[in-house]
Parts: sequence; C-alpha cells; structure tokens
Amino acid sequence: MRQSKFFMPTLKEAPADAVAESHKLMLRGGYIRQVTAGVYAYLPLGYRVLRKAEKIMEEEMEKIDVPEVSMPHFLPASLWEDSGRLQKYGPEMFRLKDRHGRESLLGPTHEETFTEIVAKNLKSYKQMPIALYQIQTKFRDENRPRFGLLRGREFIMLDAYSFAATKEQLDKQFDDEKQAFENIYRRCGLVVNPVIADSGTMGGKNSTEFQAPAAIGEDTIATNETGTYSANLEMAESIDTFKAKAEEPKELVKVATPGQKTIAELAKFLEIPETRIVKSVLYIVNETEHVLVLLRGDKQVNEVKLTHLLDADSLRPATDDELVAITGAEKGGVGPVKANWADKIIADNTVKGLDNFVVGANETGYQLKNVNLNRDFQVDQFGDIRVANEGEPDPVDHLPLKFTTSIEVGHIFKLGTYYTKTMGASFLDENGKAQPVIMGSYGIGVTRMMSAIVEQHLTKFGIAWPKEIAPFAIHIVQMKMKDEAQTKLAQQLEQQLSKNYDVLYDDRNERAGVKFADADLVGAPIRITIGKKAADRVVEVKRPSDAKANEIAVDQLNDFVTKELG
Ligand code: ATP
Ligand code: MG
Repeated sequence: MRQSKFFMPTLKEAPADAVAESHKLMLRGGYIRQVTAGVYAYLPLGYRVLRKAEKIMEEEMEKIDVPEVSMPHFLPASLWEDSGRLQKYGPEMFRLKDRHGRESLLGPTHEETFTEIVAKNLKSYKQMPIALYQIQTKFRDENRPRFGLLRGREFIMLDAYSFAATKEQLDKQFDDEKQAFENIYRRCGLVVNPVIADSGTMGGKNSTEFQAPAAIGEDTIATNETGTYSANLEMAESIDTFKAKAEEPKELVKVATPGQKTIAELAKFLEIPETRIVKSVLYIVNETEHVLVLLRGDKQVNEVKLTHLLDADSLRPATDDELVAITGAEKGGVGPVKANWADKIIADNTVKGLDNFVVGANETGYQLKNVNLNRDFQVDQFGDIRVANEGEPDPVDHLPLKFTTSIEVGHIFKLGTYYTKTMGASFLDENGKAQPVIMGSYGIGVTRMMSAIVEQHLTKFGIAWPKEIAPFAIHIVQMKMKDEAQTKLAQQLEQQLSKNYDVLYDDRNERAGVKFADADLVGAPIRITIGKKAADRVVEVKRPSDAKANEIAVDQLNDFVTKELG
C-alpha cells in the first residue's frame, strides 16, 4: 500500500479532552475519529487493526467448530419482555418506536435473540451441543462514554452462545470458549488474566472475566502473588484478620456527638478505634424496601455483594432527604437499635464478634455506646457484603491480596436455563422428556480490546503493535523521493516483501521528521528506512522497541524479516 494514497489524517497533538493514551494515539495516528459521544468512525489504519482482530477471532472460532452467524441490530422490545430484561436493563438500552408505535430497541447484547432463533429450534438432545457466534456492532447508552474505544455507546463485540442438553456439555463448551478466547488474546499480544466476576443483569451465577492490566483500566482486580486467586474487586473475598478484644456487656448509654458525621470524626471525638464503631447505611432496595446495612467502622459496603445477598433488582443508598424522612435522623445519627422503620437489617460478618460498640442513636448528633448484638437489636441476615482490602489474606491460599487496575476485555457466562425457562425453549431428552436448553454466552469487546492492546504496547513516541494485529507488518520509509536509487530499491523491496507481508510504503514528498513521526504512530513491527546508502544496497531497520535504527545489507534483509515476523 502506497502511503500517498492511504488516508491517515495524523495530528501533532491529541485533542485536550482525550485522557487515555490509547485514545490519544488512535486520534493522533488517524486510526479513528469521533462522530458523536462514544461513537467512532474507523479510518483505514484503525479498520485494518479491527479486521485483523476479527480474522484471528474467526480462525479461533473455526478451530472449536463454532460457526458464524449475523443477527439483526434492530430488535422488538417484546423479545426482551419475554425474558424479563426489558425493565432490568435500564437506561443503557437505546429504545425507539417504529412508525406504528411498536416499542423497539438496538441490541446491547443478544441472549434473547439467540434463544428465540436458535434455542427454540432445538427439538432433540441429538442436535446438541451446538454453539454459534457473531461479530457485530452493539449499542449501549453508557452513562459515561469515555476513553475512546474503551467505553463507547456503539462498539463491536464478538458474542458467542452455546446450547447444551447436559451440564457436562455446557462445561465442555465453556472450557472450549475459554481456550479460544485465551488464544485470541495471546495472538493479539494482549496479557489477560481470567478472574471471578459478577454476572450482573446477564443471569446465571458462574462467570469469568478476562482482564487486561492497564493503568487506565476502570476495574480493580484482586490477586494473590501465585495467581491461585483472582477476582474482580466487585466479587473479591478476603479473610478478616481483626480480632476484637472481648468485653463483658456494659450498660447502654446515649452520648452527644454534635457535628460528627464520618466514622473517622466519630472515632476521634469519642477517642475509640474505628473498629469499635458499627457503621449503619440505609439502602433503598428495588425502590421500595428500606434495608439497614451494618459493617464494622473500618469497612466499606460492596454493593455488588449486597445485591447478590438480597437478590435485588436494584439498590442504592438513601439520599440525605430520604434518610431524615425515613429514620428521623441525619447522616451519622442512624443506627439499628429500635430501628422499626427498617424492613430488614443486614450485617456484614465483621460485625459478628463485636461487643460494646457504638452506633447512631436514630437522632441527629447522638450515638449509643456499649451496644451489643441480640441484647439491643437483632440482625435478620449476616453475610460477606464488604469491599476486600489490599493486603488482606485471600480466601484460597491465605496470601496477601494485591490490587491492579485493569480493562475488562471479555466475559464468559454459564447462563444455565435462565433464558430458556423464561422464554420457553425446551428439547426432548433421551427419555422423551421436555427439558430447558442449557446456555452459555461468551463476549469479547473487540474495539475495546484494540485500545487495551495499545495501552499495553505504548512506546515513547507511539505504538509497538504485536505482529499479528499490526495494521502493517513492514513500513518502508523512503527518505528522498527524488533519489532514483532510493525509489528503485524501495519499489523492489515493496514488491518482494508484499508477497508475504502487509507493507506500507511511505512514498510521500515529506520531510524525514514528518515521516518518522508518522511511522511511530503506524507502529509496524519492522521499519525499513531507505536513505543515502540505497545505491550500496544498504538500508536501516528498526523495531519500535529499538532505541535506534541499525544498518543492514539488503541481502540480509530477508533473514531478518523472517526471523522477526515468521
Ligand atoms: P463494563 O462492566 O465494562 O460496562 P459489561 O459487564 O457491561 O462491561 P458485558 O455485557 O459483559 O460488559 O459485554 C461483553 C464485553 O463487551 C465486555 O467484556 C467488554 O469487553 C465489552 N464492552 C462492554 N461495554 C462496552 C462499551 N461500552 N464499549 C466497548 N466495549 C464494551
Ligand atoms: Mg456495562
């Protein structure tokens, strides 16, 4: 490909609102352009990377015998009513009406569509197991689209769905997909860790996320040093090593703590450790129930764990106004003693071993001291509802947890029969008995993954693309277009190398500085510079990680290229 014909609008500086390095580089290199918030055009350079990623995915799906299909983007809302997800999915769904007023939507994910079109067509156990996939644009009206392709409102996903007659078949399908995904990431040069994850609105309980460590990542992963335990912080468990000093129950007393709202302020004011305070947080669950949540003062509520424990569709902390209206006390003054306004009291396990602790008195500016479980109030349910802390022992090998920021590049679920039961997709088993189809779903954020790859392969001046995903494997940069020896050699190398590799040939009449700066943004694994020594059949080669270019005789070039690119 001749660069003079290649549309690659590069920028000296990235726009000021670009924060993520991958976003900056893709804008500067002319890979992508934003059309509206979270919606991007893929320009030739970006599209080449995208197509290469898709090709790798196609090959890996082929290897596990999963055929490709294409489902519509435009879907009837009724499909989502059948699964019960129309309301649950919330404002992230792009909803629209057709001219007849029929409620419709743009697909954010396709479990319903595949259940309708595939699962409902499976009549006998003999047709299973089967799996299908597509690579397709998804639409999600994200609250905060940002970081370029990392969180878009229109983005590309590989989504695969599996259909099994038995749990064993599902397990095998899940393992196959997991292996295929790992192969895809490896071939794309991406370092990922599989971690325990939250299934969210997807249904099912068993899910694994693929997380790519990167500074810009929006997720936090808790891992021990040997990697025997890895979980998204949303789900991470840890062992609480704190042991409260046991005391005889003392008499309950009410104390004034004017103006002390936070746990830290209270601890200081009362001259006690934070671990002697029990924190009370009022949650509004499913917009109807008032659930009081208790934790030891040094811990934070993990809302994902709380959602699971309560099996809630939605929950949120009460607003300041709601707090006063419901409990009669302002923030800091709320507590579990005589809290008859609470529909339920839930406590984290860290509250279990405590005695003579401090809680809000349900009166603004007052606390109760020497409060004791069971004597002064009852807890309806205990559970692990706290955020794990870095350094705490992991639940498997009891090694200290380390936190890393990370990008979720894929998520695989054992869905079970959630969709097939609600939507009525059954088959006849060996005994002629109707059973719900057992499903799995598997997704890779293709465009997000492109950004993640860039985040993991930044150089001082640009990108060092892994070879299988690089937009071009070889970049020939000719220094002087008017030099005939250079042109002759450049064209000869272009022709020769193009037989086996994707070659970009910079044939533009530009200054060397411009050409090199652009080449850093193209990030080809090999740059061949054709300059003064062209007549002597000597060129320079440089890999993005090399500090400087090295001279090489043209005769030796083939060996070098084969060694680098295979
Ligand atoms: P997140 O927690 O980041 O919002 P999610 O849990 O909503 O992700 P899934 O529904 O599991 O994501 O979607 C499958 C994959 O699609 C994700 O692992 C991610 O790689 C990708 N993805 C999800 N949302 C976006 C988005 N807004 N932009 C780009 N890729 C996305
Ligand atoms: Mg999301």
